[in-house]
Amino acid sequence: MRPIPLVDVKAQYEPLLPRIREAIEGVLVGGEFILGPNVAAFEREAAAYLGVRASVGVANGTDALVLVLDALGVGVGDEVICPAFTFYATAEAVARRGATPVFAEVDATTMNLDPEDVSVRITDRTKAVIAVHLFGRPAPLAELDQLGVPVIEDAAQAFGSPDIARSGVASTFSFYPTKNLFCMGDGGLISTDDEELAEHVRRLRFHGSRDKVDFELIGYNSRLDELQAALLRVFLEELDGWVAQRREAAGRYAELGLGSACELPEDEAGHAYHLFVCRSPERDRIRAALKAEGIGSAVYYSTPLHLQPALAGLGYGRGSLPVTEQLAQDNFSIPLWAGIGTAEQERVVSVVQAAAPVAS
Ligand SMILES: *Cc1c(COP(=O)(O)O)cnc(C)c1O
Repeated sequence: MRPIPLVDVKAQYEPLLPRIREAIEGVLVGGEFILGPNVAAFEREAAAYLGVRASVGVANGTDALVLVLDALGVGVGDEVICPAFTFYATAEAVARRGATPVFAEVDATTMNLDPEDVSVRITDRTKAVIAVHLFGRPAPLAELDQLGVPVIEDAAQAFGSPDIARSGVASTFSFYPTKNLFCMGDGGLISTDDEELAEHVRRLRFHGSRDKVDFELIGYNSRLDELQAALLRVFLEELDGWVAQRREAAGRYAELGLGSACELPEDEAGHAYHLFVCRSPERDRIRAALKAEGIGSAVYYSTPLHLQPALAGLGYGRGSLPVTEQLAQDNFSIPLWAGIGTAEQERVVSVVQAAAPVAS
């Protein structure tokens, strides 16, 4: 039996190789590699796609968060509320600014921030909330917006969802090769309706300068490459089709009866299914069975951020975020990408069902 990987990025871009070569060739002919015409065009196209006024290409999704926090004036003495059930970069960006990440609990079903728990953690030092659209599922923006604190969307996993990039502040994206919209290296984006904020982060990404003559801010060197932007323009045209395929594959797991063996992610129209994340008390047994059959699986955030060594100084102990810790214990993701075949999904389902015959 052929192995089934957790994600097959190559399967997604292989049919596009002629257009990819053409895009690269265009950059070679143009001879501009930093902040050239492809970055400018991609920024316009991404803003139009997201339905926002402006977008700014940066070096990666982590920098996108750092630059937005910097532009909002977040620094030492400030607090930013975010989930602990997310990729490390979400909180790292806050700490990088010298501010304090404050971890709020997530909802057990959506795995996204629980607005009620966020509300009790707001203090007069709270400068922002970072809402992560975890695994491609939109966070509850409407509820979070009512808390009276600026909401930044960490949308690294959710490009392609129609229900994101809605907050009044800014959204950040990563184009790391496994994300829904990806490039062939590192890349990131900030999107916003606030033209002033866009202008500010545009300066920050280039050493705090508008014109390379006057340096007005202590900034960063954090730009999206011209080559990556050229590829992103090709892939952005495919994104809706890819997300539709992801959603179709997610639906197929349910149709094939996987829900009898583990808890499936509850569907929602705006879910972009960056990953297909299930839950089961038999997780480790299921994963061992998958591995034995050459089928990829993964556990994301098995050590939630409040228990990470670098953030231990914040003083959260084990037991301080019970829902987060439970999710860390029982979640696992199974193969999903745009174009995964029915036969492959059938094999995954039969192995999971054999390993955990009855959902508990
Ligand atoms: C991938 C990711 C990031 C970081 O993006 P990079 O481009 O790797 O810096 C930040 N937040 C979340 C939720 C992510 O999934």
